[in-house]
Amino acid sequence: MRALVKSSPKPGIWMEDIDEPSVGPNDVLIKITKTSICGTDLHIVAWDEWAQSTIPVPMAVGHEYVGVVAGLGSEVEGIHVGQRVSGEGHIVCGRCRNCQAGRRHLCINTVGVGVNRPGAFAEYLAIPGSNVQPIPDDIPDDIAAILDPLGNAVHTALHFDLVGEDVLITGAGPIGIMAVVIARHVGARYIVVTDVNEYRLRLSQTMGADREMNVLTESLDEVMVDLDMCEGFDVGLEMSGQPSALHDMITHMDNGGEIALLGIPPKQAPIDWNDIVFKGLTLQGIYGRRMFETWYKMLAMLQTGLDVSGVITHHFPADDYEAAFDVMRSGECGKVILNWE
Ligand code: NAD
Ligand code: ZN
Repeated sequence: MRALVKSSPKPGIWMEDIDEPSVGPNDVLIKITKTSICGTDLHIVAWDEWAQSTIPVPMAVGHEYVGVVAGLGSEVEGIHVGQRVSGEGHIVCGRCRNCQAGRRHLCINTVGVGVNRPGAFAEYLAIPGSNVQPIPDDIPDDIAAILDPLGNAVHTALHFDLVGEDVLITGAGPIGIMAVVIARHVGARYIVVTDVNEYRLRLSQTMGADREMNVLTESLDEVMVDLDMCEGFDVGLEMSGQPSALHDMITHMDNGGEIALLGIPPKQAPIDWNDIVFKGLTLQGIYGRRMFETWYKMLAMLQTGLDVSGVITHHFPADDYEAAFDVMRSGECGKVILNWE
């Protein structure tokens, strides 16, 4: 089968012909229809320090996808051949304390599809049946292909109550933009988004932000005056991974504010703990998606008017992957889809 393979320990990624994955008794074989590219995939292509210490070589990568069930292991129940599916990309052990308590998103032995084991940038993917997520008929393939990052946005945005609250989202990447739409859907008051990228700030505005702000040219103090906000933000969603963005967020939170942290900083970042203590802030780290409560909620919201389709800005045939990765690297994009059919 065709697959995008990290076949040597150096920058790049290559379309190769590899064996179809083997299907164990508990596995489901998925024929991939569409995939989308994640920032993580860019790290793998660039072969940075994180990728070098994490990714086994050779291996097909990719973890955002939709496809159709093409085969079933003998022990799999409740899934049928021909069903349209995506899948939870974190494969958990089922045995650790958190798994046994039903908190599978906190499994201590999580293995990532397309990161620690073969991924979805391929004609076929095999994953455990328990990770397979059936897709309702009214959700189009494009949206089904981005449920993994939408799930990150949903898990982060729903962690704290946003109803009637003033929300600051730092980072208008695809996940930050989807968080804007979710915050609007669930009833936030003001939604302010920051970035350094004008293309993405414009996109976040068309997706429902009240105010977008380029941190290079404006300050949150001015934005708060414009919106007649005198105390500070109630909820912060950190989605840039930039230490300066988190610092700015902490400074502009109201006392008692709540911050959900999804962005992954490149290195250790200093925090003024006095701000956290004296303002009584709550900080919550967010990883992945709740299994499968986040999936349930996002599918339900998609079926009741949550419209994230505008975050998808580019489509390419899988064979044009070089052009697709170039667009991703440029930052002049939202989600980029690769078509495998
Ligand atoms: P992305 O890299 O596309 O988006 C980050 C955005 O932050 C970019 O648009 C960038 O221009 C912007 N930015 C840079 N400097 C900024 C600053 N000073 N202030 C505000 N914005 C700034 O990433 P994404 O795919 O949207 O993901 C968002 C973040 O979440 C990334 O850090 C990613 O690594 C992380 N992530 C975490 C998880 C998890 O499970 N915790 C899962 C997926 C992604
Ligand atoms: Zn576990």
